Amino acid sequence: MLNIVIFGAPGSGKGTQSERLIRDYGLHHISTGELLRDHIARGTELGKIADSFISKGQLIPDDLMIRVLAHHLENNSDKTAAGVIFDGFPRTIPQAEALGKLLKEHNTDVHAVVGLEVDEDELIRRMIERGRQSGRSDDNPETIKKRLDVYHNSTSPLRDYYKEQGKYHAIDGKGDVESIYNSIRDSLARNGFEN
Ligand code: ATP
Ligand code: MG
Repeated sequence: MLNIVIFGAPGSGKGTQSERLIRDYGLHHISTGELLRDHIARGTELGKIADSFISKGQLIPDDLMIRVLAHHLENNSDKTAAGVIFDGFPRTIPQAEALGKLLKEHNTDVHAVVGLEVDEDELIRRMIERGRQSGRSDDNPETIKKRLDVYHNSTSPLRDYYKEQGKYHAIDGKGDVESIYNSIRDSLARNGFEN
């Protein structure tokens, strides 16, 4: 079993690198951003609530987000997968504590946290470009600034949280997609996680 958290600021490339990890390590992907955007697209009750936060660049409140994640994990976990890759969750310390507890109930744990480290100018550049191409409502200059603030205040403390647990793999997230992926693989392999 290999449960990975892919971690980093908005625009750091979590979704892109997740695709490769899923392919090569046989992991089940859970992206809370995609999950919420799917609810928004379908106009569900959760989608309406999520939209009111996402469009302002805010996080969905912890108690709701944790319930959504727990429910998704119980009902959609692929029993044949080699593990799970959590993309976009946890984003706060309470979410990290909840994830640890949930996994423990299943006699498993977070094994590795892959932290994609990218400077702020590059993050902004990527999100502006993505906004142009995909029309994602939160990829506009004003909301991007808010999301980066939220990242610094609420999410970045998770680096130290996972460093203290010896789980944090710092990855230089700048450069081309394949060389970043190679650094991730090398870092995981050095810790005995092979695909
Ligand atoms: P990346 O570009 O690296 O994939 P991102 O920050 O652009 O990351 P998502 O992870 O897709 O995008 O998240 C989009 C939005 O969904 C967040 O800004 C937030 O409002 C909401 N969201 C996603 N995950 C969480 C979470 N764990 N807790 C609270 N809100 C969340
Ligand atoms: Mg994403």
